[in-house]
Amino acid sequence: MDGIRIYRGINQIGGIVTEFRKGGHRILIDFGANLPGTENAELEDDAMVRQVFADKDPVTDAVLFTHYHGDHVGLRNRIPQGIEMYAGATALKIMKLIAEGVDHVKRKKGLTEEYDLPVLERIKPYWKIGEAKDFHGIKVTPLVCDHSALDAYMFIIELNGKRILYTGDFRAHGIPGEETFEKLIKTKVGKTDILITEGTMVSRLCEEASNGIRTEAELARKAAEIFEAHKENVVLVSSTNIDSVMSFYNSVPSDKAFLCDIYQAKVMRIAIEARHRYFPGSYSYRGNIYVLCPDENEYCMGELRKYVIPHTKRHPFKMARAGLYSEKGFVMLARVNRDPGSETGRFEKRLAQMTDPHIIYSMWTGYLKDGKAEDPAIVSFLDGRDDAGHMDVIHTSGHAYVEDLKKLMDMTEPEVIIPMHTESAGNFRELEQFRDHKDKIEVCRPGEVYGI
Ligand SMILES: [Zn+2]
Repeated sequence: MDGIRIYRGINQIGGIVTEFRKGGHRILIDFGANLPGTENAELEDDAMVRQVFADKDPVTDAVLFTHYHGDHVGLRNRIPQGIEMYAGATALKIMKLIAEGVDHVKRKKGLTEEYDLPVLERIKPYWKIGEAKDFHGIKVTPLVCDHSALDAYMFIIELNGKRILYTGDFRAHGIPGEETFEKLIKTKVGKTDILITEGTMVSRLCEEASNGIRTEAELARKAAEIFEAHKENVVLVSSTNIDSVMSFYNSVPSDKAFLCDIYQAKVMRIAIEARHRYFPGSYSYRGNIYVLCPDENEYCMGELRKYVIPHTKRHPFKMARAGLYSEKGFVMLARVNRDPGSETGRFEKRLAQMTDPHIIYSMWTGYLKDGKAEDPAIVSFLDGRDDAGHMDVIHTSGHAYVEDLKKLMDMTEPEVIIPMHTESAGNFRELEQFRDHKDKIEVCRPGEVYGI
């Protein structure tokens, strides 16, 4: 039957796979792994792969990835050879950068499992943003949206005369979001018949209510205050949550040094090059980016050493020398060591050498309970520094707030609303803010076809 089939991700956050089918053909959107710690998963990863590729009919014309988070792309290595895959051009660069690191560790450990980079070589960048491509009667138009991942996508899908908006993960309070969310929906989307929307924050209402930081601009203002007040600032932030990374970089006081490792510096370079034309206020090279090299060996910086900003002829990447930053004070972007024995443990070592480090925790607050860390990797990183005197929690969500979801519903005037990427699809009908749209909400069942 022609229609929409959400294999996984209706009653859970992550592990997303959605099918749009017409006749003997289909496209898939995302092929994600269950998030670590997912309880009562709708389907385990292996079972899902078997279910999606169970029969030879229909033909899979393409798999389209919304963005690079693991709960959307994590099972890409399980997609059979010969099936076309697409992702954003810049997202692909970031994925390849991550894969280089992952493959390097696999090689070092002598792991024989399939390397990641060759699979990424199979993925093509989107044909053209804002332009439809026809997959045997399923027309897909990719649109760039705001999320806590760089170069994330929504899709307009036209199928059997119906116009469908598939949001993927999105928000309206990041660096691009504030300027473009309403404009994007008004000018590029407009009236739709079916809205398939993520609803992460509908299952995180308490988190939304308790978080005093709502936008990236607020995050940047608060960060600047904290950085002024402390000499040794250590920021725990996801290296690919680019908007927040740029907010921290832009908030460093002029008398302090900005420090990060080589991998983070490469991510920043990709992000700035992709975005500085569109968001020069937030995405440009400001002060120097001091790169932490093992044993202060400048050779490790590789190409970054030679990189010159085209229009200013400046070298933005400099090697971080301990003498320089320990005297001036600094803001250091750090990551917890998820893999004991790997190189990432050096942040813990650096932390141990500091006099009075102040932690800025800017990851999902769900990893904390009553302000205290529970995750063993974070507990080990913080090493007892999770009290108010040593740590500030400032974080913006990667997902749309309830008010933005309502705005989206109002602007797209759908006849049917299908919630997904939420633990509370049923709550969509109960929420006061969605009252006007209550009767349109269709809670699907995983693996069932919603016929069109
Ligand atoms: Zn995401």
